[in-house]
Amino acid sequence: MSAIDLLVVGAGAAGLMAAIKAADEGLRVCIVESMAKPARKLGIAGKGRGNLTNTAPLAEFLKHFNRHGRFLKASFAAFFNKELIDFFEKEGLKTVEERGGRVFVASGRATDAVRCLHHAIERRGIRLLTSNPVRELLIAEKCCHGVILADGRKLEATRTLLATGGMSYPLTGSTGDGLRMAKKCGHTIITPLPALVALKPEQTLPENLQAVVLKNVSAELRIDGKKEAAEFGEMAFLDGCLAGPIIITLSRSAVQALHAGHKVEIVLDLKPALDHATIDRRLLREIENNRGIDIAGLIAKLLPADLRRYCLEQTGLIGSKKADQMSAEQRKILRLWLKEQHYQVAGHAPWEQAIVTAGGITTTEINPNTLASKIIANLHFAGEIIDIDADTGGYNLQAAFSTGWLAGMSAAQAIKNAGKAR
Ligand SMILES: Cc1cc2nc3c(=O)[nH]c(=O)nc-3n(C[C@H](O)[C@H](O)[C@H](O)COP(=O)(O)OP(=O)(O)OC[C@H]3O[C@@H](n4cnc5c(N)ncnc54)[C@H](O)[C@@H]3O)c2cc1C
Repeated sequence: MSAIDLLVVGAGAAGLMAAIKAADEGLRVCIVESMAKPARKLGIAGKGRGNLTNTAPLAEFLKHFNRHGRFLKASFAAFFNKELIDFFEKEGLKTVEERGGRVFVASGRATDAVRCLHHAIERRGIRLLTSNPVRELLIAEKCCHGVILADGRKLEATRTLLATGGMSYPLTGSTGDGLRMAKKCGHTIITPLPALVALKPEQTLPENLQAVVLKNVSAELRIDGKKEAAEFGEMAFLDGCLAGPIIITLSRSAVQALHAGHKVEIVLDLKPALDHATIDRRLLREIENNRGIDIAGLIAKLLPADLRRYCLEQTGLIGSKKADQMSAEQRKILRLWLKEQHYQVAGHAPWEQAIVTAGGITTTEINPNTLASKIIANLHFAGEIIDIDADTGGYNLQAAFSTGWLAGMSAAQAIKNAGKAR
């Protein structure tokens, strides 16, 4: 019998929650973490404010996941948003609900959630070995017996949980190690691709379009010329990419289609509330009401300062010309630019800037009720390492916490059933 009942690899949201639940169930738990400190990614989540979950009801919640969202039903049935909020409350961390049901750390500091989880594991006497990367799993006869650390030391355990995250923001520790380990022991890995990521257009965006934020615009994603999805809200031009919430939401499908060799296009509508005829009437009214106005002045009445030069460059209109001399064709060019800006997508921002990983260990090889491997005995998975990802809004962290909780719980049940617990 091992001195460790459950060995958790990775001290992220999923691993820490699994360790806490397993310890509460009476297991002797040890966590091994490659970084010097736990949960680096959780500490920067939600722009540093920690969007821990969302209060949406289950059916709505699941709609924010990819097609494998159903896999999470058992995890959410065991431990969902209310349970997570209550858990943090009991552990001394207050949360606050904001627009769209998003639940944040009330102090506005995601690092307080990390501190809270850290105290929770200390209080339970859980061993946390930081700066100890795991090199591989100890597998014999299709059964996991623990891990081998990077320095060659072996750590044996009755059960092992792989919670090493995906591949995004590798500086936080999620480098894809766990995916390599899972593959080595026979698991199928759905090719990881960055999701929730800025999109790089084919054309070079002008340098003065850096960090320009546009509110109340809409973006349509077209794949091979066909509308795939559309979003309304805020977008930004950032580092030569299309970025901001609505682009990030469309990015998962865009990146998948791009990698599958399809033609991917984003069409921006800067005036979604106005149709072409209304815009034309508005242009004529502005010209009528502002005698002698030039085209640059007219554009200034329609667009924020940051966009005006870009508009003139793109439409070829001459700013110093009198607006009342614009032809119907020139007004149409301007209208089309406002309503239908086409951006052929050539790529995306790198892993270093992607919020989540789409792809990972295929869900068909994991029991959704226990999060145990169907291929290797005594091995569980939790968190972003699994082929599951969601929109922004607190869904990804809830999935990590819920799968962690269920993995910890089911590892404990399995050990108790086998009569191996203390
Ligand atoms: C910038 C950013 C902001 C985000 N904001 C939000 C948000 O507000 N709300 C939300 O719901 N989601 C958010 N997400 C997504 C969310 O943070 C992740 O989905 C979630 O943290 C995944 O948890 P995890 O425990 O599965 O993996 P991780 O948090 O990535 O943890 C994995 C851990 O495993 C460790 N590890 C990796 N390899 C090894 C190894 N070989 N040996 C030992 N340890 C190893 C890593 O160091 C890491 O500590 C954000 C992501 C990013 C990048």
